[in-house]
Amino acid sequence: MYDVIIVGGGPAGSTLARLLGDKMKVLIIDQRDLEAAPGGFEKCCGGLLAPDAQEMLARFGLGLPKPVLASPQLFAVRAIDLATGQERFYPRNYLNVKREAFDRWLISLLSPQVERRWRAQFLDFRIVAAGVEVSFLWQGKKHKATGRLLVGADGAQSRVRRKLAGIPSSGLYVAVQQSYAASRALPYYTAVFDPAVTDFYGWMIPKDDMLLVGAAIPAGPDVLSRFERLAQKLQDCGFAFSDSGPRQGTLLLRPRSRGTLYRGTEQVILIGEAAGWISPSSAEGISYAFRSALALCRALEQGFEGALGRYRRFSKGLGLDILGKRAKSPAMYWPFLRRLAMGSGLLSIDIIE
Ligand SMILES: Cc1cc2nc3c(=O)[nH]c(=O)nc-3n(C[C@H](O)[C@H](O)[C@H](O)COP(=O)(O)OP(=O)(O)OC[C@H]3O[C@@H](n4cnc5c(N)ncnc54)[C@H](O)[C@@H]3O)c2cc1C
Repeated sequence: MYDVIIVGGGPAGSTLARLLGDKMKVLIIDQRDLEAAPGGFEKCCGGLLAPDAQEMLARFGLGLPKPVLASPQLFAVRAIDLATGQERFYPRNYLNVKREAFDRWLISLLSPQVERRWRAQFLDFRIVAAGVEVSFLWQGKKHKATGRLLVGADGAQSRVRRKLAGIPSSGLYVAVQQSYAASRALPYYTAVFDPAVTDFYGWMIPKDDMLLVGAAIPAGPDVLSRFERLAQKLQDCGFAFSDSGPRQGTLLLRPRSRGTLYRGTEQVILIGEAAGWISPSSAEGISYAFRSALALCRALEQGFEGALGRYRRFSKGLGLDILGKRAKSPAMYWPFLRRLAMGSGLLSIDIIE
């Protein structure tokens, strides 16, 4: 019998397991093997740690080890509007990391007391007298474990959330990301707007000797053709990259209404992207994963009873933060306002060639 069973060892699940590991009996389950040699399934992500995520690392008293870093570190965003041809540079401070190495480093910080099941597929749960019985596939067999609390930290495609309440279809995007061999390292993060491809955005991120090209596109049958159109347009604009690395894709739930955020029930609580904690304006989610894990840890410090209510209270700031980001989204995502904002040059910098 566990106190807490966590499904998902990404930034949200690993952080909660780290914070609770010495105080409670914790089991963490992930379909990835986050401790064996790298290889296999990797999280599709840009791997940029925004200032909010950096602040959380600082609050946790953590510093990043060198093997987690990717080159180069980035201090500017280049915004390009393909519809109008406008472009601007804005100062921003990102830590550029190798996402898989980052996740593995977070797992390496867990207390040895935390029990782990890697390459384990969460299947289902049911409420029983003692708490929640979780079933999962591990080493070719179906296993069961019981915990007082089940935590769904299993990302945007959360099976825990689907079993609990379903995943809303509005605000559903498919993020496609392809790595290319870059002919030269771009010293900035590029955000690309093209209403013909998506009402969200595309990006280019240098990652060592590769260039990640990606876009978040409204879910639909033409996602891949839209992505290819964007990649072609970028090449036509003079960005030189050749097709070489793997292509990844994943769902992304962009919080558009209150219904997208869902914290769960007394016995099954959601954190990280499973709960909808992700920025609706930039899709930055690592800081929210950290903050929601911390909010739940604080809620559990006072016991299991009433934990959901306390989690709601402690994560209220995150909800307000998302509302604030939603309110400022039109300046970026409404073509007319974007044209005005970029045309004004407000907050932009000149790059000295
Ligand atoms: C294309 C893309 C680019 C992004 N770029 C950035 C960025 O640059 N910076 C940033 O801050 N955020 C970025 N985000 C958002 C960020 O990746 C997420 O918000 C963050 O990873 C959420 O962390 P999490 O722990 O909640 O979920 P995840 O990181 O998704 O972790 C979920 C874990 O659950 C496991 N899992 C899922 N289902 C099961 C199951 N049934 N059984 C067992 N295990 C399961 C998965 O293997 C995974 O390890 C990006 C998102 C996308 C889609």
